[in-house]
Amino acid sequence: MSNIEQTLSIIKPDAVERNLQDQIKNEFKNNGFEILKEKKIHISKEEAEKFYKVHESKPFYNDLCAYLSSGPIVVMSLQKDNAVLENRKFMGATNPKDAEEGTLRKKYGISIDKNSVHGSDSVENAKIELDFFFKD
Ligand code: UDP
Ligand code: MG
Repeated sequence: MSNIEQTLSIIKPDAVERNLQDQIKNEFKNNGFEILKEKKIHISKEEAEKFYKVHESKPFYNDLCAYLSSGPIVVMSLQKDNAVLENRKFMGATNPKDAEEGTLRKKYGISIDKNSVHGSDSVENAKIELDFFFKD
């Protein structure tokens, strides 16, 4: 049975800065993800704080929000069968050092903070995160 879902993907500043956005978009397309919506934006620190509010209590929260707002990002709505889990698998582990061969973070990630991509971690959060960037 098919289970078409949508999830939020972000190409983070480290990847946009290295001009990897087209390559990463092609990776998604070649792996069966349809890019339904996309936009290149530069968010403020306050917006990043809102987006990452779930990490508020973490020691890395401030640096994380400073980082996500440090330069342009590409936000995308991806659609695929089981898109949320499929995207998480395709991204690889949070720390590129631990990411499996063939994953985006293994290929493009620089470090645990500059790990090139974000992906929603549940269907519920995907809806919230898609609304955050694409609700108008
Ligand atoms: N992060 C960090 N230091 C850490 C853990 C996480 O800088 O020790 C950053 C990292 O960029 C990660 C983001 O915070 O992508 C959100 O963390 P989460 O645990 O949700 O990882 P993800 O869902 O992105 O794999
Ligand atoms: Mg997460």
